[in-house]
Amino acid sequence: MPEQHRLIDIIAATITKQAKTQGASRVLSATIKIGELASVTPEVVQACFARADKPGLEDIVLHIEIVPLLGTCAKCQTTVEIDNTLCCRRCGGPYVEIGDHNTILLESCEFA
Ligand SMILES: [Zn+2]
Repeated sequence: MPEQHRLIDIIAATITKQAKTQGASRVLSATIKIGELASVTPEVVQACFARADKPGLEDIVLHIEIVPLLGTCAKCQTTVEIDNTLCCRRCGGPYVEIGDHNTILLESCEFA
């Protein structure tokens, strides 16, 4: 997989990967959490994504939430929203590493 730095590409790749995992051919909607970035708003991300012309994702309804901080669990490698427990929501491990600020989390996905 080629290195991807652009936020829109990362979002598209994440959704496509999830669709493949589920064996789905069409994605209806996706809810994505993005770690807080300077001047990035849900509206900006949605507008960019709509213009990005990603094959198979043209009609997708994208829900974007900006969250203060995302990290990756050192134990189970899950990307989680860091809350006041500082622990992984999936495995409960206390070793959540604060990711770089491009970290995104695919919260949910709806397939056809
Ligand atoms: Zn974990």
